[in-house]
Amino acid sequence: MKKKNYTRRKFISVLSAGSAALALPLTAAAGQQRNWSAAKLAISGGAPVRTQPWPQWPAMIVDDAMLANITATTKSGAWSRINNPVNGTVASFEKKYAALTGAKYCVGTGSGTQALGVCVDALGIQPGDEVITSPYTDFGTISSILSARALPILADLDYKSYQIDAAAIEKKISPNTKAIMPVHIMGSACNMDAIMAVANKKNIPVIEDACQANFAKYKGQQLGTIGKLGCFSFQGSKQIAAGEGGAVIGNDDVLMDRVYTIQNHGTNKKGQNITIGQKMRMNEFEGSILLSQLEHAVERFEKRNENARYLSSKIKNIPGLTPQLQYEGSNSSGYYLYSFTYDKKHFNNADRALFLKALGAEGIPAGGYIKGMQHDLWTDHILQLDTYKKNYSKQQLQFFKDSLQLPNCDKVSDTVIVISGGAILLGSKADMDDIINALEKIYTNRNNLS
Ligand SMILES: *Cc1c(COP(=O)(O)O)cnc(C)c1O
Repeated sequence: MKKKNYTRRKFISVLSAGSAALALPLTAAAGQQRNWSAAKLAISGGAPVRTQPWPQWPAMIVDDAMLANITATTKSGAWSRINNPVNGTVASFEKKYAALTGAKYCVGTGSGTQALGVCVDALGIQPGDEVITSPYTDFGTISSILSARALPILADLDYKSYQIDAAAIEKKISPNTKAIMPVHIMGSACNMDAIMAVANKKNIPVIEDACQANFAKYKGQQLGTIGKLGCFSFQGSKQIAAGEGGAVIGNDDVLMDRVYTIQNHGTNKKGQNITIGQKMRMNEFEGSILLSQLEHAVERFEKRNENARYLSSKIKNIPGLTPQLQYEGSNSSGYYLYSFTYDKKHFNNADRALFLKALGAEGIPAGGYIKGMQHDLWTDHILQLDTYKKNYSKQQLQFFKDSLQLPNCDKVSDTVIVISGGAILLGSKADMDDIINALEKIYTNRNNLS
């Protein structure tokens, strides 16, 4: 019997009725509950729920239109955006991306980290200043603050949403706070009403790190358009991918003009060299690969949301598994990752690592994502640098050290499970059923887990 090539449903048919079942109608319709009590976990040598491989992101989205676009750019010889500032691929992408997000302006950059860093510079943030952000993020978020030799002050999370908590932000505001940088982790919205209320009370600008959150909406507005500036990443693992790439969106004419100038090594649109900035321009190859994805990126966003809603509707009924809290008013998510909290008490006290091993054995790739950024070496490193010693008071540096105690973040890091949004959430309903079946199978057989 060549099990490898069977779909999950065929495979179940085979298990239930022998190989003749291949010719029969499928026995387990999508979404149908299975009784897993007689099944043996794959980790103990039983048959896995799924043996089919999953598609790989971003290789799965390479199509003829994308290749034609890249070829056209290659042949044109206009490889830098300055060769075709009005109709080039980068300029066209910026216009289309702004329109899709509902922002007035978009400026491409070489990465999401650069997008965030340009915003920090555009707001005039310098050594001595503090920026409040989430510890539960890509290091690029922290880097964008450190690059300006500003001080990241970390605020703890809401344990249920994994998002930076507005009340925790409020406690970290000091006279030196020059920006708040909430991170929409997993692509889902922070509690933006609460965060904007805290920020507006003190008149502190908000830079949204929406690097995982393309097209996601909160109360009718897209993430990245609620704060003063919003940033996106087009790194290869992201939902719109160019290997590397990023963008800033915003509505403020003056500020967005400054964003353009700073990412263009301090040269403004008139060609005058007027300020300080690294060269962070997106190139035309990146523009062409991004442009070819935009239309389908919206379709994919919708598909990820449909599949995630279906997964959550089932996973919430499995004791010990709780999908990431989506705040009221956040009716969609970028779903860079699909995530849920694992409570081992309901799984015979099996550690998350063992649960993940069991899930992997059933053919479902999942992982534990990241630990909080407060645990990495940069925290000690910056305290030894002259620039931090010179530009910050002892009190400020103590405030920074205190901000590294983040119990909710630690709890989240230890209990969250993620499934890649890129490839897996684009699957069929039967693919989602494989995930649900594997989780239900493990739950039913939890006493065999440890
Ligand atoms: C990917 C990411 C970044 C950094 O973007 P790069 O393009 O990799 O530089 C920043 N913040 C978050 C939340 C991200 O996911």
